[in-house]
Amino acid sequence: MTFKIFRNAFLIGICVLLACSALFFGVMFSNYESQAFDKLAIEADYIAHAVEQIGPSYLDTLTGEDRITFIAPDGTVLFDNAADVDTLSNHLDREEIAEARQTGVGQSSRYSQTLLERNHYYAVRLSDGSVLRVSCTQTSVAAMLLMLLTPFLWVILLILVLCGVIAFRLAKQITRPINAIDLDHPEIDGAYSELQPLVDRLRQQNRTIHEQMSELRLRQQEFSAITENMREGFLLVDVKTTVLSGNHSAMQLLQLDGSGSGVNLYQSCRHEEILRVMGTALSGSHDELLLTADESTWQVVANPVISSGQVVGAVIIFIDVTEREQRESLRREFSANVSHELKTPLTSISGFAELMKEGLVPVEKMREFSGDIYRESRRLIDLVDDIIQLSRLDENSSMFTRERVDLYQLAEQVIEQLRPAAEKQQVTLQLTGQHAEIDGVRHLLSEMIYNLCDNAIKYNVTGGSVTVSICRTSAQPVLSVTDTGIGIPYAHQSRVFERFYRVDKSHSKEVGGTGLGLSIVKHAAQYHGARVELKSEPGKGSTFAVIF
Ligand code: ADP
Repeated sequence: MTFKIFRNAFLIGICVLLACSALFFGVMFSNYESQAFDKLAIEADYIAHAVEQIGPSYLDTLTGEDRITFIAPDGTVLFDNAADVDTLSNHLDREEIAEARQTGVGQSSRYSQTLLERNHYYAVRLSDGSVLRVSCTQTSVAAMLLMLLTPFLWVILLILVLCGVIAFRLAKQITRPINAIDLDHPEIDGAYSELQPLVDRLRQQNRTIHEQMSELRLRQQEFSAITENMREGFLLVDVKTTVLSGNHSAMQLLQLDGSGSGVNLYQSCRHEEILRVMGTALSGSHDELLLTADESTWQVVANPVISSGQVVGAVIIFIDVTEREQRESLRREFSANVSHELKTPLTSISGFAELMKEGLVPVEKMREFSGDIYRESRRLIDLVDDIIQLSRLDENSSMFTRERVDLYQLAEQVIEQLRPAAEKQQVTLQLTGQHAEIDGVRHLLSEMIYNLCDNAIKYNVTGGSVTVSICRTSAQPVLSVTDTGIGIPYAHQSRVFERFYRVDKSHSKEVGGTGLGLSIVKHAAQYHGARVELKSEPGKGSTFAVIF
């Protein structure tokens, strides 16, 4: 900018200089010409008057520099102090002579190209019709310039230097305050009020940029907050499979460092299947797959990103479906188990009934066979009851009505119910602790206590004992059932709460277990916001504690 201002100012200076020079020379020249004619008129009048008085002989006495010519009325040159009159032609055709003959005075100028001179002529008519002409010579502009060339060039040079210095200082003066403006905090010295609009505009644009930046930062933070806190993984790639953006979950799954931006997936991703769905998305189609990694199952969904009808990238979403898949597999396993568990007693019942129908059972065995059919039917009924109870708990049914339940009283009732079975097994049952009321579903809590006590009796030893205890630890009611039975090996302890899981299948069936008792306990406890803890040692006994 400084250079531009300098160049323009310098050019203006040169133009002004040239215009002034031309004007100066023009004015000087025209002034000189009119002065020359004035001088010639006075001189011609004076000489003409003298010739009228004294006669043509007066002309011989003149010694001036100017050329004097005396012309007879017929145009013949009678006298000329600068040339031989015999060599001069008739002067009637000269412009100034013709004009003087007509009007009394005449003047004209003629230019000599060879001499670069200009001759001025002034003619006066005398009373006898003869004409007196006085002329002088003036150098032309070009000749004058040639004469003045050296000083003129010096002056020009001096003015050019001056112009340069002034233009440079001017440019600096204009640009210095502009360069000194702090673009972040524009302020201007009062001396440069012309720059105030520029400063105001800068301030306004700064404000706009600041607002837009804040808005953008906010949007970015919102986007990051959403994507970073998403359990789902999110990945955006361009057509060259370079990661443009991705959240923490996606980076972790793909084992990429940091934000992953700039990483090429074809070089860094080890999952062939992801590269396959990404390829499909980049070819413009939707694709998805189930991916198992680190004991988790992910649903990978890839979609093309289309802009102006062209695929410009792909968005890949990773949804954690581990729980869904586990539930699905549990459901499948449960269905298979249920079918199997139902089929076994039904096969027995059908077998016994068929034998009886065919008359193959002797009368004395009839009672025994009927007893077997009754036992298997009971097992079936127990099993179906347990399945119904579990499916209600699975649905987290709101059909259950809550009420204030005293756990101690409830345990007392259950113990009374189980006392005959315990006596049959020669197991003593006892209840200790204090009254503790909770907000709960009576029949679920009753079933929970029943299942725990039933197991404690079933898996006990002859002469063993079962102790039900209700106590409070730091305001939490705790129900525990301790037995002196066979205990559960450590390896099985985490699995006994699974549906149809039994430590010893034949023993469980022998004692009439369905394999669902502890599952119902776990779900009923969860329904009440409680957790079940198990402590057991094979050969010594087990303690199941329900902590509300
Ligand atoms: P079941 O109807 O077979 O008793 P449960 O779900 O109630 O099914 O129990 C699962 C398994 O846990 C049982 O088969 C048994 O092997 C074991 N178990 C449960 N309670 C006890 C206990 N008090 N002592 C020893 N083993 C137990």
